[in-house]
Amino acid sequence: MDIRNWLTEQKKKDLLRQLTPVERQPEGQVVVPGHAGGWLLDFSSNDYLGLTCHSGLIAQSRQFLELAGCGAGAARLMSGDLAMYHLLEEEVAQLKGQEAALLFGSGYLANCGVIPALVGRNDVIFADRLNHASIYDGCSLARARLVRFHHNDLNHLEELLGKHRGTGEALIVVESLYSMDGDRCPLPELVRLKEKYNCLLMVDEAHATGVFGENGGGIIEEDGVADRVDVAMGTFGKALGSYGAYVAASRTMIDFLINRARTFIYSTGLPPAVIGASLAAVRIIRQEPHLRRDLFAKVEYFKAALAEKGLTNLGPSQIVPIMIGQSSRAVQIAHALRRQGIFATAVRPPTVPEGTARLRFSITRHLSHEALQHAASQLTTALSSG
Ligand SMILES: *Cc1c(COP(=O)(O)O)cnc(C)c1O
Repeated sequence: MDIRNWLTEQKKKDLLRQLTPVERQPEGQVVVPGHAGGWLLDFSSNDYLGLTCHSGLIAQSRQFLELAGCGAGAARLMSGDLAMYHLLEEEVAQLKGQEAALLFGSGYLANCGVIPALVGRNDVIFADRLNHASIYDGCSLARARLVRFHHNDLNHLEELLGKHRGTGEALIVVESLYSMDGDRCPLPELVRLKEKYNCLLMVDEAHATGVFGENGGGIIEEDGVADRVDVAMGTFGKALGSYGAYVAASRTMIDFLINRARTFIYSTGLPPAVIGASLAAVRIIRQEPHLRRDLFAKVEYFKAALAEKGLTNLGPSQIVPIMIGQSSRAVQIAHALRRQGIFATAVRPPTVPEGTARLRFSITRHLSHEALQHAASQLTTALSSG
């Protein structure tokens, strides 16, 4: 491959990805240096509850930093197993309604470590087509047979289970809230199928933890199926405002992963400052349900503003996808919005299927009613022009 050519081609197809350095502001804004208007309203962040700049996270982070230094110094199975990890794991297990939990360096690393630990060459994985790239990368590393079912299509999944379940281990892996479509998986039905076909069920709650469930325990909590899910995975990098990730499961499963998940075994423990922030975040989401109520009031407000302009069926969550189709048009609209002070990402293939480029509005608690109203009207203007 000629690298220069490849880049030129990507650019022609409006598929070239480029970094945009920003400075974050606490209240749902970003400053893009060089942008004429100064700051932009941030509709592109996963900081749903506005915790990244929360004083509680900052204070606890600082405290752990002072207490234990900047780094763990080693992998946890060496001399890096700080006591604070166990404290956080206990609280995460409680949050997720599981016996135990295990921390990973990031959600990407968790998926790449857990899936190959659970299944191997003679096994099969049933994966929703719209699963996140990190899940697919975990599946590749596992070298198990990969069977993909149509997004959220239980009939298709059951048909495939009937055909391909086999006699080895089988894993069904889904997201509880899909990051690019903002829709939920039919979790109770998936649990029923996994029990009927004797499979393991792994649920990625990256976008659901902190946002759904009475205590913020995610959709496994809201749907009341925490004890019937084998592995609940999630990240601290989204609603929890920090960094790193966890897997919550039975004590036996966690003991197994400690021995088998290579991205856990062969990687340095997370820095103390990060653990402090995550610990504070877990406590805050359990103790402050009003944060979730505030967020959903904003989500409803934004959807109502769009409905007034004829945009409906925008899904059940804080992630609001506006389907465009062509990548070039999605990019064009994103640029038009940028000029109006709105930062929303154009999501293009290969992140989403061909022909389904979209603008992804992610709503965070800090966005004001004025900001939401402004975005809704600018969006409809941009959609109707060109
Ligand atoms: C963001 C995301 C991840 C990765 O989590 P990080 O902590 O950012 O590495 C995994 N799965 C899903 C569904 C995600 O949206």
